[in-house]
Amino acid sequence: MKKFLILIFIFILSACSNAISLESTPTPVIVEEQNQVEVQNEAVVSPSPEPFQFSLPTPGAEPISSWRPPLYPVPWAIAPYDHFFFTRPIAADQINWPVADYRYGGVFFGINVVHTGVDIPSPEGTPIMAAGAGTVVWADWGLFAQTPGNQSDPYGLAVAIRHDFGYNDGQLYTIYAHMSMMNVIVGQHVETGDIIGFVGSTGATTGPHVHFEVRMPNNSFFYTYNPELWIAPPQGWGVLAGRIMNTKGELLQQMEVTVTPEAGGRTFTVRTYGKGGAVNPDPYYQENMVLGDLPAGIYKVTFKYEDKRMQTWVEIFPGQVSYFTFKGTHGFDSTRPPAPTLDFLPLDLPATPTLQP
Ligand SMILES: [Zn+2]
Repeated sequence: MKKFLILIFIFILSACSNAISLESTPTPVIVEEQNQVEVQNEAVVSPSPEPFQFSLPTPGAEPISSWRPPLYPVPWAIAPYDHFFFTRPIAADQINWPVADYRYGGVFFGINVVHTGVDIPSPEGTPIMAAGAGTVVWADWGLFAQTPGNQSDPYGLAVAIRHDFGYNDGQLYTIYAHMSMMNVIVGQHVETGDIIGFVGSTGATTGPHVHFEVRMPNNSFFYTYNPELWIAPPQGWGVLAGRIMNTKGELLQQMEVTVTPEAGGRTFTVRTYGKGGAVNPDPYYQENMVLGDLPAGIYKVTFKYEDKRMQTWVEIFPGQVSYFTFKGTHGFDSTRPPAPTLDFLPLDLPATPTLQP
């Protein structure tokens, strides 16, 4: 029972606010409607324990500048292991990057209370756009507990889209929470960039923002992934992913990592993921730290491990994820996991049609 209550608590607060083809194009999937029962059953019981009152973390200073180049078109993946299948829910000419101090896996609101998405602060009424083509499967209050009309649900007014594509054989979903108003209905098909609603502060939040999640393969709180590995970076910019472990290979949680451009300028800070069953590493990278929106270039990565300062250099490439691991006394390694394969494809592929002259 205690465990259950903790779980519920985690739910509420966190809502605040490889195989892949060589071209990395999204794979079509058969839509499955099952498997949405487990969470619903648990969550239905749970109204919020207390009326929650909290403020979002203060956004960090603007990374380098508030200006961003336009985003890469989606789907974007010039490396076989990346999957930038989604564009951002806020237009490229506005603030459309996550709150720096409360990224995916962050635990700002308490230990074991992990953030299952990213928060993009935006003025009330700003259009929210579909991150990819798909069908609206939720447009209502009550998304968290799947209780339609429940205005005390922490997600507030929220939309869920089941995309027309997946990753490997997994169905992809995206979630947009805290809307002031919706612009779609369940069953409606939307294209990338269609306006599905407007920024608000409904649900558990004290400021207008969109809480954005990527889920796979089920549309459930427990199946989220880091959106910063799925949304296309600005042109000429890239993403850093890291897997930071102790010597035994255990992931280190909530470790502060600083990332400084060699050319000088602002230092970025990011923390490794907190502990929680709702936060999942990427199927390929198995990371526990991601920093998106980095201009291409050389960066110094530092953090403290067993009272010693650890340091490595990474290069960020345009439109790609750069990757490193750290394993205690074994130190740093920039070797990527083995290249993805096509293992997920069925063995008996239909014969290639031949052209008739
Ligand atoms: Zn959030």
